[in-house]
Amino acid sequence: MIFANPAGAPELACDECGCRWFDRMAGACYECGAEVPKSEIQAFEAALATYYEKTGNRP
Ligand SMILES: [Zn+2]
Repeated sequence: MIFANPAGAPELACDECGCRWFDRMAGACYECGAEVPKSEIQAFEAALATYYEKTGNRP
């Protein structure tokens, strides 16, 4: 799932356990091992791009 942190930046969290620790290499949750769907990662990156565009605050 995708949610916004208090700063307004999108965060990607596990659908299964709600934790925010992902193994980006494996595309799976550290906590419960649930796989993160590619569509979810793409949606997250799109949300992140929108956020950076809005704030002009790229990492
Ligand atoms: Zn999990």
